[in-house]
Formats: sequence, C-alpha cells, structure tokens
Amino acid sequence: MDLQIPISKGNRSMKMYASRLEKLGILTFQDFLYHLPSRYEDFSIISKIAEIQPGETVTIQGQVLDMKSNYMRGARIKTMQKAIVADGTGSIELTWFNQPFLTKSILTNSQISASGKADMFGRNKTLSMQSPEYEILYNDAAKPIHTGRLIPVYPETQGVSSKWLRRQIYNILTQNMRQIQEYLPENLLKRYDFMSFPTALQEIHYPKNLESAQKARERLAFDELFLMQLKSNQRRAAWKEKQKGLPFEIEKFQTKIYECINSLPFKLTSAQQNALDNILNDLSLDKPMNRLLQGDVGSGKTIVAAMGMYAAYLNGYQSVIMAPTEILANQHYATISKLLEPLDVKVALVTGSKKPKGIRNQESGIREKNKKDPDSSFMIPDSNGDYDILVGTHALLSDNVKLKNLGLVIIDEQQRFGVEQRGTIRKKGNNPHLLTMTATPIPRTVALTMYGDLELSYLNEMPHGRKRVKTWLVPPEKRDGAYNWIHKQIKDTNSQVFIVCPFIEPSETMQTVKAVNQEYERLSNTIFPDLRLGLLHGKLKAKEKETVLKEFREGNFDILVATPVVEVGIDIPNATIILIEASERFGLAQLHQLRGRVGRGDKQSYCLLFTESKSSQAFVRLKSMETIFAGAELAELDLKLRGAGNLYGTAQHGIPKLKAASFSDINLIQKAKHAADEVFPHLSAYSSLQQKLMDTFDQNISPD
Ligand code: ADP
Ligand code: MG
Repeated sequence: MDLQIPISKGNRSMKMYASRLEKLGILTFQDFLYHLPSRYEDFSIISKIAEIQPGETVTIQGQVLDMKSNYMRGARIKTMQKAIVADGTGSIELTWFNQPFLTKSILTNSQISASGKADMFGRNKTLSMQSPEYEILYNDAAKPIHTGRLIPVYPETQGVSSKWLRRQIYNILTQNMRQIQEYLPENLLKRYDFMSFPTALQEIHYPKNLESAQKARERLAFDELFLMQLKSNQRRAAWKEKQKGLPFEIEKFQTKIYECINSLPFKLTSAQQNALDNILNDLSLDKPMNRLLQGDVGSGKTIVAAMGMYAAYLNGYQSVIMAPTEILANQHYATISKLLEPLDVKVALVTGSKKPKGIRNQESGIREKNKKDPDSSFMIPDSNGDYDILVGTHALLSDNVKLKNLGLVIIDEQQRFGVEQRGTIRKKGNNPHLLTMTATPIPRTVALTMYGDLELSYLNEMPHGRKRVKTWLVPPEKRDGAYNWIHKQIKDTNSQVFIVCPFIEPSETMQTVKAVNQEYERLSNTIFPDLRLGLLHGKLKAKEKETVLKEFREGNFDILVATPVVEVGIDIPNATIILIEASERFGLAQLHQLRGRVGRGDKQSYCLLFTESKSSQAFVRLKSMETIFAGAELAELDLKLRGAGNLYGTAQHGIPKLKAASFSDINLIQKAKHAADEVFPHLSAYSSLQQKLMDTFDQNISPD
C-alpha cells in the first residue's frame, strides 16, 4: 500500500472517516502512523482468574461460558450485558451497560481476552469486571491489541475512538512493515543510541514497556526536529545559491551613517548597535540579506531599520518598509521622514485609504509631500517614482507600485504577512536584501527550529532610562478600587489610559467578555462620567481610527477604550496606564505586547490585569506578568503551561504543531540542529534520507 495516499482516496469504509480524521491531522495513511498515543493503559499483567486480588487492574483470558443481555429498570441503565468467563482456575463475571449488540460479538464458547479493574461486586461478592476492554481471540496465534499489554490511548474526536484508531494503526503498521525503513545515517543512530525507525514506530504504538515507549518517542521527536532543521538548511542554501545579491558600499558611507545616528536625541543601545552592525555587514555582501530582527515592543527596531534604509539610499537604492496596519505605517512614515528628509531622502507613504488633504496618483498609488502647496500633505509623485523610501501597508503589494531599483525590503511584524506577500514585495526588485522584524516574543528554541534558515538579531535590551511597567493582577473585588485609583492618577498626574477589551460585538458564547462598545458606554456613563473617553476598534474606518489616535496622542482623551488593535506598534509616550479586561484570554506574549503600549515615556507606568476566571492555572499564568518582564521568557513560560498552539492567540502565529517533539525540549532541539548541520553537506550521499525529506510536509513558514 502507498502510505502517501490521502484517506479520502482510500476504500469506501475509510473514506467515510476522512473528514473526521482530518480534525486529528490525519490526512494520509502515513499520518496514522504519526498519530501518537497521548498515554498508555497498563493492561500488561495477565492473571489466572483464581489469583486475582480484588482491586487489581489485570487481563484475564478464558472461555465464554455464558453471554446474556438483560433489561433493567433503571433510568440510565436500560440493559446490562453479562458474560461468564472461565480459565480453568476459576470464573469471573464481565459486565457492560446499554450495549446489547455485544451479544453478537461475544459468543458462548469463544476465547476472550479482557482487561480492567477486577473487584467483588453485589450482594454475593461475585468477582467481576465492569466495562472491561475486551477482544475475541479467534485462534491461538491471535495477538491481543486492546488487552494484555500496554495499550495506546490516542487523541480522539467525535466518531473516532481510541479503540477504532488502535485497530487501524495496528493494521497499517503490520501490513506495511516492509516498506517502513530506516533513513537516518548509521553514525547518528550509533552516536545517540537511537532505536531504529521501524522499531520506534512499532514501540511507540505497541511498547514492550514504558521505557521502550519513551525511547521510541525520543527517536521520533529527534526525527521531527532533525527533518525540520534539514529543511531550513535546504532553504538557506537555496536562498544563497539562487540569488546574486546587491552588495552595498558600507565603509565609504560609514561617516554619513554615524552622523545621522549621532544626530538622534538618544544613544543607541548596545543591542541596537549590534543588530545594526549585523545588518550593515549583511548589506555589504553579494548574497541578499535574510535576517529576522526580534525585539520587544519599545526596544527600538524602527531606528535600526531606518539606518539600513539610509545605507540603501546612500548606495543609490530604493527601500520599502511594509507594516500590517495603517496606524503603524503612518507612524513609521512620521518617524522616518522626520529623520531622513533633512538628509535629502525622499520618503513617501503608500496606504489603501484616501488622505484628507492628499491627492493620490491613480497610477502609482503613491502620495508624497507637496512642497508647492503647503496646505496639502501629499502630492502626486512624477511618473518615474522619484522617491527613495516607500512606507506603507499591504497597498505596497499592488501592481501599481513599481520600483526602479529596489535594494532593501523591510517587513515589520512579519508574522502578519503570508509567505506569498513577502515574496511579492521582494519580486519588485532584483534580489533585494530582506529584513523582517517582529515584536512577537518567540522562544529561542522555537526560533531555532522554525527560522533555522534565517540570521537572527535580538534586541534584548530596552533603551536606557525606561522604567519597568508595574503590573498587578487585580481580583474582581478590587475593581472599584482600581477605577478610583485610575481616576485619581488621571486627575493628579495628567496620565492617559488604555482600557483593552478582547472583542467588538457581544458574543453569546463568551458572556463574560466585555464587549468594547458596551464597555465604552458603561465606562463613559457610570464609571468615568467626568472624563473624556475615546473608542478604537478594528471595525472603524481607517480614517476614523487615525482621528481617534490623533486625538488621543494630542491629549484630547483621557482614556482610550480599545480592542487589541492597540497591540501592534502604537507609540504614545504620555499613556502610562493600561487596563486589560478578561486577561486570561490572552497569551502571555500577547499581554506583554499590550503592556508595551505604556512605559514609553519617562513616567512610571502601570499595567492592570483584570480577570473573572477562577482557574488556578490562569492565576499562575497571569501572576507571572507581575514579575517577568522579558517577552521571550513569558513566551517560554506560556509554552510550558499551555503548549505552542496557544502562544499567540489566533491571528498571528505561524508556529507548526509538533507531533512527537516539544519546543520546550532545548537539548533535543540542539542535538537535532547539530546533527542537521553535520549531515547537510553530505545529504546527496543519503538517498533514503533525501526521499524522507521530500515526503515530509514542508511547513514553509520562513519569510522568503
Ligand atoms: P519597536 O521596537 O517597538 O518598534 P520603536 O522603534 O517604535 O520600538 O521605538 C520605541 C520608542 O523608543 C521610539 O519613540 C523611539 O524613538 C525610542 N527609542 C528607540 N531607540 C532608543 C534609544 N536607544 N534610546 C532611547 N529611546 C529610543
Ligand atoms: Mg515597531
């Protein structure tokens, strides 16, 4: 059988299951083999009936002397099935409830194997097992798969039971054992003392003992990480091979670049300095840069990016910087034009929405400052596209945006863009350098695995003088107190406040969620009637959003009630308090990003986390926000507490689901990386490994 064929192309009885299996991530027959047990039931003690100790979990094997289904008078228990089984040493009763069809499969005189907890039941203290796992042994050679050993328990879904999965997996495994072959190089197997691949598959599903199951899992986890690493090695090589880059002159312009940096009102942090050195070095090479710049909100990525773009300009190349929201694009435009326009760099803004005073070139979609008409912020650029830097949103992707000589592409909050979009923007040039940026704290281990083909720079240091945002988890009974405190802060210190609610419309299913509209009404009318409140959410038109933010920035609102749109990038130094409702709904990494909206000026800032949740896990998670202030560390913690799937809420992550491995297993990740780096140069010598790589689904997540 070809294990690669999709379930939906299987036989009739299997096809019926295709959509249900898809929910479990089982798309092909091979996927069955990678559907790993979540735990094992230990039915390995096979006991003579006479020797059973009451309370023991055991397996018995014997002959069915009698099998009956009886009607009962109970409300829930309508029928009861009872089998009497004897093995020569004694007899035992097996009982089930409401399964009358069992009389069709458990026939008198058949040989049965049954596992479960045995006890003395009823007035007569009869030795029985209630609802045991069982299977009929059709001949002497029949091997039990549901009883009599360590039994795999699988992740299930509606209509797909562990028992059914066990049968399928057993069949596929035994029938295809010949084509399941080792593909790892011999020396790796020896060095790490790994089980062979076929044995590992066998042992993960049907282990001899738990130790063996553990060894099997380790082998499969290694494979998963190792193959992922090899893929990223391949991508990295392909990137370098295919592409001849555009080497920039850096040395020659060093002075100019540093004149610009020295004109800033602050000194670069050493993390910024390092990242910039890395970037400038990459830009000087004839291979296109492919670097990910990671840094917490407020760590100062924009200035680093701007210096890269300035280097491009000095070399006569254009740059684009693309951001996921208009708010961010506007902000970047403001920062970059303020910094670079005095140096004669022409900066233009490209977004989808019309500007109040701007005129947009129908053909290019570009707006630019109109120097002739001081009343107009933008003008139609000439048809050659006489600009050096384009700042924009997705609008930059439009065919209308044509560039003469694109040298550098920068993508901010890269995880918000798809692989295709990242490709489209690069294709506007001839192998331009690529810098992607993210404030999403990715645990190092995850980055290492996912982005193995990228160069990484971390801004692991905040600009000097930044104070920590004091963070409190506020219990429900202190809500009123918190409102009073906020009120006082606003009155006494002129602070501005964000209040973040998770969703826009009231959602019937999640009644505790504070809908932002309602919340806005409630806060304006009853809690803070004497203050000025603004409302910001994703459903507002771009222009409305901009107006609200402008008003807030200019101090015309005291409080901005918002959905998590404020998460990305907004820079309002006078905002010093952020209150987050239903905070348990956010991942820690996300909360950390939200918290980064405050603490941008030199005043002490505060983050208040509200939750109505009673869960102790939620308490532990949220409490950690009070003491941990490094995004990556929080992400790491969430990874441990909730698994990778929950790291970043829904919209914005591209983290693959691992089957056997875990992103928290740093040792194994490092082992796999080391092995992949070692094997990769000799990959052509290992044909079965190459084949395996080709058969392995490419997550294709990195930005190339
Ligand atoms: P992010 O990494 O979140 O994109 P930004 O680039 O928006 O951060 O920078 C946040 C703020 O910090 C900006 O107002 C910026 O001018 C300021 N900033 C950047 N670098 C420094 C520094 N080295 N010292 C002081 N302030 C800085
Ligand atoms: Mg930013």
